[in-house]
Amino acid sequence: MSAVLEWLTARQEEMVDALRRAVEIESPSDHAAALHRFADWLVPRGRAVPGAEVEQLPDPAGPMVRIALPGSGRPVLLLAHFDTVWPLGTLERMPVRLEDGRLYGPGAFDMKAGLVQGLYALAALAACTRPAERPPVVLLCTSDEETGSDRSRARIEEEARRSRAVLVLEPAMGPEGALKTWRKGVGGFTVEVRGRAAHAGGDHAAGRNAIVELARHILDLERLTDYERGTTVNVGVVSGGTRSNVVPERAVAEIDFRVMTVDEAERLERVIRGLAPHAEGFQVHVEGGLNRPPLEERMTRELFALAQEAARGLGFEVAAGGTGGGSDGNFTAAIGVPTLDGLGAVGDGAHGPSAATERST
Ligand SMILES: [Zn+2]
Repeated sequence: MSAVLEWLTARQEEMVDALRRAVEIESPSDHAAALHRFADWLVPRGRAVPGAEVEQLPDPAGPMVRIALPGSGRPVLLLAHFDTVWPLGTLERMPVRLEDGRLYGPGAFDMKAGLVQGLYALAALAACTRPAERPPVVLLCTSDEETGSDRSRARIEEEARRSRAVLVLEPAMGPEGALKTWRKGVGGFTVEVRGRAAHAGGDHAAGRNAIVELARHILDLERLTDYERGTTVNVGVVSGGTRSNVVPERAVAEIDFRVMTVDEAERLERVIRGLAPHAEGFQVHVEGGLNRPPLEERMTRELFALAQEAARGLGFEVAAGGTGGGSDGNFTAAIGVPTLDGLGAVGDGAHGPSAATERST
């Protein structure tokens, strides 16, 4: 362990330079060309790790990069993503800067720092261990995490199924760098109400006001929030109607929900899918469901104990925490693979260094 630590400590400046470069290559989730530019930087970085096999998994919307260090036994999977929530051009008003030992820049904290840590973890293992002494380690870098991982999910799950453990290099929690031992499950619904349009002056009584009906449902939905259970239901967007002198025929609400357990997700899904009209003359149509299943604490317990032991061996204590935001670790835990999250950078999220407060997932 100490050989790895020594090897890494000697390369601290090199790691900071790599992070600076990584942040300078902007890579918003929705910009295919930018994501390809980032992959073009990452692939040779992976190839520089002695013994590593690097593969770019093509996708016109944004590639994945898989860097595998051979070893013996079942692999350990490291998950990172290189897409960010920051649009191209953010660097102009938020340039990379290094101040008091902290690096600031769009996407530095979430999670290019974690990706650089992953690269150097592989390099350190390659330098300090022989293949027979270590498990194979796969660093899978995706480019669609911030938009829900629709394109990468199947591959992430496939890699996880082969692996003995998944370590997610998302940011750690708080200034003390706690690991994430739980994450809420995240889902969404669209609730559409149909009524009957009518002229607000000549024929008001014949109309069925979809906005009014939706309003009743919104109050019901908000009441499903239960902080004690860790359940939140947020009606975040509403739209409806055409003009003020028309009784609106249609109104729509978009809903985000978060839960601690799969059971609670199922309960909520039943309730929301079962929404029925409050009054005559309306139809209610519900679409959606759970996107990321919860990362339940029981799936992280064993790995967290190992992490504590390893930290003590290096002379520090590591704490556990959790968050309402999901990550790709939610997918791997849900299919039964031990998963530990928050192994990436430590940041304070107060301003510049952190995209964490602006995360979308
Ligand atoms: Zn992230």
